[in-house]
Amino acid sequence: MAVIIDGKKIASEIKEELKQKIELLKTKYNKIPGLVTILVGDNPASQSYVNSKVKACSEIGMNSMLERHDDKISQNDLLRIINKYNNDNRFHGILVQLPLPKNINEDTVIESIDPRKDVDGFHPVNVGNLVIGKDTFYPCTPYGIFELFKRYSIDPKGKHVVVAGRSNIVGKPVANILLQKKEGANAVVTVCHSAAKDLSVYTKQADILIAAIGKPNFIKENMVKEGVVVIDVGINRIEDKTKAKGYRIVGDVDFENVSRKASFITPVPGGVGLMTVAMLMKNTLEAFERIESQKN
Ligand code: NAP
Repeated sequence: MAVIIDGKKIASEIKEELKQKIELLKTKYNKIPGLVTILVGDNPASQSYVNSKVKACSEIGMNSMLERHDDKISQNDLLRIINKYNNDNRFHGILVQLPLPKNINEDTVIESIDPRKDVDGFHPVNVGNLVIGKDTFYPCTPYGIFELFKRYSIDPKGKHVVVAGRSNIVGKPVANILLQKKEGANAVVTVCHSAAKDLSVYTKQADILIAAIGKPNFIKENMVKEGVVVIDVGINRIEDKTKAKGYRIVGDVDFENVSRKASFITPVPGGVGLMTVAMLMKNTLEAFERIESQKN
């Protein structure tokens, strides 16, 4: 039976460490880090993500501001708001909650954020720096996976990591992080996507499998080898009439059966999902230190 990786516990440990660090840095810089979150529209999932970010800031003693706009806001107005925060030294991180309404070009918006404040790590400058192995902001969900490996002493070095999914927010960045010639990485990485004729050909070879495809319980026991480390990034709603909300959340992995074969596995919920906000806080503190130390 696999060791269940406890994302909740690790995320709260990280937040506690950040809180203590912020206390110390407050004395050094006479200032605290700040994160501004910009939410456009009223997508319920986005609202809930944004609320958890604001709550995490207050838990760790970080300054936070939430800018809400309805979906009628023009792209130019949004760009002006971002530019204002690029020049506001109370804020070291700027996060624009995605997705944006259709009339707004997400790439243009991301590119308008000062890369030094791009704590989501989505700006092309930061993506490029990640690919060539320079200091950058790791996108928060892949960074959470990297951190879970570290805290569970799982060393990807020389291991075959198979990533199912090639999105810009999970699949590609986690692959790029893990193939870097660095401590905590240095893996041999295979990235799969929907054009793979038979995904199991690849997943069966994985020492570490990262599932980020957005398909409920898709990875079955017969698709993995004995002793595999399984990281389930999926967050999928499936109907469940026994629940008050009428649904429950499951991952991309058939947890019950795959956990019998795996050596380590992340549950859903309670695994990777909770790490994302913790790593956003970590990135914002990193941005604060970089920006403030350059001033002195
Ligand atoms: P996405 O943008 O929809 O990308 C899904 C990827 O999976 C695509 O690259 C797609 O291939 C690939 N794919 C789909 N079906 C496949 C199949 N049968 N075999 C192989 N590859 C397949 O999704 P995402 O944003 O990366 O998110 C993935 C999942 O993680 C979702 O459930 C999402 O809710 C969850 N998520 C969780 C967190 C968190 O924990 N904090 C953060 C982000 C996302 P193509 O490129 O060919 O279409």
